[in-house]
Amino acid sequence: MHIDARTLPNNTLIEGDICIIGAGAAGISMAMEWMNTAYKVILLEGGGFQYETQMQDLYKGKTTGQRYYPLDAARLHYFGGTTGHWAGFCSVFEKIDFEKREWVPHSGWPIKREDLDAYYPRAQKNLDLGPYEWDYAYWLKQDPTMLSLPFDQEVLYNKIWQFSPPTRFGDKYKDAIVKSANVHLYTYANVTNIGANENVSAVKEVTVKNFAGKEHTVRAKIFVSACCAIQNARLLLASNKQAPKGLGNDNDLVGRYFMEHIEIKSAEMWLPDPDPLKLYAIDFGKTKWRAELGITAKAQEQHRILNGTASFTPLEIARKQPAFIDSFTADRGESMRNWKKRGHKDEQPAQKKGYASYQLFTRVEQAPNPDSRVTLDTEADALGMPRADLHWVLTPLEKRSIRTIYEIIGQQIGAASKGRVRLLEYLWDEKNDSWPEFTGGGWHHMGTTRMSDDPKNGVTDANCKVHGISNLYMAGSSNYVTAAAPNPTLTLVALTLRLSDHLKKQIGGGV
Ligand SMILES: Cc1cc2nc3c(=O)[nH]c(=O)nc-3n(C[C@H](O)[C@H](O)[C@H](O)COP(=O)(O)OP(=O)(O)OC[C@H]3O[C@@H](n4cnc5c(N)ncnc54)[C@H](O)[C@@H]3O)c2cc1C
Repeated sequence: MHIDARTLPNNTLIEGDICIIGAGAAGISMAMEWMNTAYKVILLEGGGFQYETQMQDLYKGKTTGQRYYPLDAARLHYFGGTTGHWAGFCSVFEKIDFEKREWVPHSGWPIKREDLDAYYPRAQKNLDLGPYEWDYAYWLKQDPTMLSLPFDQEVLYNKIWQFSPPTRFGDKYKDAIVKSANVHLYTYANVTNIGANENVSAVKEVTVKNFAGKEHTVRAKIFVSACCAIQNARLLLASNKQAPKGLGNDNDLVGRYFMEHIEIKSAEMWLPDPDPLKLYAIDFGKTKWRAELGITAKAQEQHRILNGTASFTPLEIARKQPAFIDSFTADRGESMRNWKKRGHKDEQPAQKKGYASYQLFTRVEQAPNPDSRVTLDTEADALGMPRADLHWVLTPLEKRSIRTIYEIIGQQIGAASKGRVRLLEYLWDEKNDSWPEFTGGGWHHMGTTRMSDDPKNGVTDANCKVHGISNLYMAGSSNYVTAAAPNPTLTLVALTLRLSDHLKKQIGGGV
């Protein structure tokens, strides 16, 4: 069922069993899980069904620290959320990604990789991925021409990626939600405040506003915030009427540990003979799977480095491409609307005979860092909500990890006499911790309401429930403790399905 919140009489009271805030990858995945159940689900989406400049403006915010994308260019504010822009790169987190690594400060999740094992296959279906197979050996059997670079498997491995078409959640799931009898989707329903009970131990209601000047109240037994990492933090911090530091923020952790993947060109590789590197190539829109070079858990531990992967783009193509960080900075309204039309053709398949030189491109996790954080700006948006202020901070560990990854790859490629690897200049000086101007993120927002069993270390518990608030949950990558090497969406959908199963047990038991 669909209701445009602008058309309701002012001050309407909306009531249901579960209230999901935000209809992106996480919010829609959650809503679909509750379809055709006995429960009344309220799905609140701030935007409508299309991109609107006025709506997007609500995402504007300040950025300081490491240069970052304009916040309103890094997320989409309408039904389907940022899946309207995402590129569909997917891979699974590894066992080590959940562990406490003593060389990575603030690492260690309260859950293990096995806790997501049952949910990844379900998440893959939501994202229209292939089989739940992530070992190179399986994929080599499907296509024996996908040959690996030569390397020591104790040090490097072929990390498999699968590609979503990419699934646009707003297109794929709209009909089912609009036709549903028990999922009540409200568009133009921007949540501007989460109101708690008297002793701030439970959420009582949320306030919804829109540009028609209407304000409504939503009450439910359970509330799930699925607005993505920056907006999840902003919403908690802005809900500061009863809890002056913001809801769930007694320990000053909401908004902290914001993480991105650093996506950056890092090295060049020359081969004596042209090679298409077929296993590592991508033809955008057609490639269903490929590999990137991953660093084994053993090598990460031995070198005390973060997790990351390397991909290969023919040098002659790569040299013509702008850095990610320079995309979407000028004329961004137009480029954002036209992203789908433009396609995402910034990577090309290798020619039949291949290329003799490649650029090596890194995706490395950022070490969790309390100083990398989202706070509230003094300026408010058009609905009166303080804007987000992102202070993105990197640490020397990220840079050392990238340098080490390419030293390892260079040694391996050289030892096998396959070719030669040259690190880019910015990695040469071990004492230089600065970052070049082309340093960018992957548009992956993580952290800000990190999980921990201990309220002094995290905002949510192992079930994504906000510590100290009995019925408020965070869905999505804001729960991440560490970022791992892969892009976040597959794992955040898996985590959301896990949360959904947990909530079904909770509500069944009468929350
Ligand atoms: C250019 C680009 C490329 C990307 N490529 C990849 C990729 O290849 N692989 C990958 O894994 N990830 C990729 N991502 C990231 C991916 O898009 C996100 O991980 C994913 O969309 C996050 O899902 P989400 O539901 O948490 O947030 P979103 O998809 O952003 O959805 C949040 C929803 O909440 C709504 N909302 C926000 N605030 C409020 C409020 N106060 N009240 C009501 N509603 C609200 C929004 O309108 C939106 O619908 C990419 C992102 C970008 C920008």
